[in-house]
Amino acid sequence: MRYKRNILASIAVMLCAMLVVAFCFFPGKIKVTFYPLIKAVGGAMVYDGNEGYGSISCNDFIIEYPEDKRDVAYMVLDSMESDSRQVYDFFSYRPAKPVEIIIYDNADDMRDALHISRNRTVQGAYYMGKITILSPYAWPDAPKTDMEGYFRASSPVVHELTHMVVDEITRGNVPVWLTEGIATYMEYRIMGYDWTADIDVEEPYSIEQLTKDFDKLDEYQAYRQSFLIVKDMVDRYGDEYIVDILNSMGYGKEIGAKLLYK
Ligand SMILES: [Zn+2]
Repeated sequence: MRYKRNILASIAVMLCAMLVVAFCFFPGKIKVTFYPLIKAVGGAMVYDGNEGYGSISCNDFIIEYPEDKRDVAYMVLDSMESDSRQVYDFFSYRPAKPVEIIIYDNADDMRDALHISRNRTVQGAYYMGKITILSPYAWPDAPKTDMEGYFRASSPVVHELTHMVVDEITRGNVPVWLTEGIATYMEYRIMGYDWTADIDVEEPYSIEQLTKDFDKLDEYQAYRQSFLIVKDMVDRYGDEYIVDILNSMGYGKEIGAKLLYK
C-alpha cells in the first residue's frame, strides 16, 4: 500500500515538474490550455446565488440583479441587446452560451467580489467569464432624473462585452494593455465616444512597459496610449488584422511589438 502511494506521489511530482518545464518553454500554450478551467472556478466565486437577487433569462443573456433594481436590469438588457451585435460582428464571434451579467448596487461589494482595491473607480468590469455592472444609482455623478438616458449615454456594456469576447478568443492569453486598448477603441467605434481624448502623452511608454507594468503606470496615459495603438493598427491594416492577431494568441502565440506591426 505504502509502495503504491510512493509511486503515485512520484508520478504527481514528475507531472508538476514537467508542467513547470513546459510553462518555461511554451508559456502561451500552457496558459490557453488551462485557462478555461481556471476561469470556471474563478467565475463561480463572483456570483453564487447572492441573497436577495432576482434573475432575467433570455436566449442571449442571463442578468442577476438586486431585487429592488429591476429597472437597472432592464436598462442593462436594453444596452446589451442594442450593442452586442456590433461587437460580435467586429470580431466575427458568436457566444456559445448566454452571457452572464451581475448587477451590484454597492461599489464596495462589487470591488470585493472582483478582488480589486477599495479606492479604484468601478462602473463595470469583466472578470473570469462574467460581466459585472454597478447600478448607475451608485455612480458618483448619478443624476436625480432621467436615469435611463444617463445610463445609455455612458453605458459600460460595449467596453465590458469587448473584454469578454477578447478573453474568449485569446483564451486569456492577452496583455492587459491590449484588451483595454481594444475595449476603449470599440467604445469609440460603436458609441462615438473617446473618453481618453483630452489626455496628454508627453513621454510615451514603450509596448514592453505597457505589457509588463500596465497597472503600475499612470492609468490615464496607459489607457490613452493603448487606445491610440489599437486605433493606429486598425487604421493601417483593417479590422481583420487585429482579429487575426487575437486568434493566433488563442493558439498560444506570445504577443510582442514585432507581431503587432507588419
Ligand atoms: Zn477595461
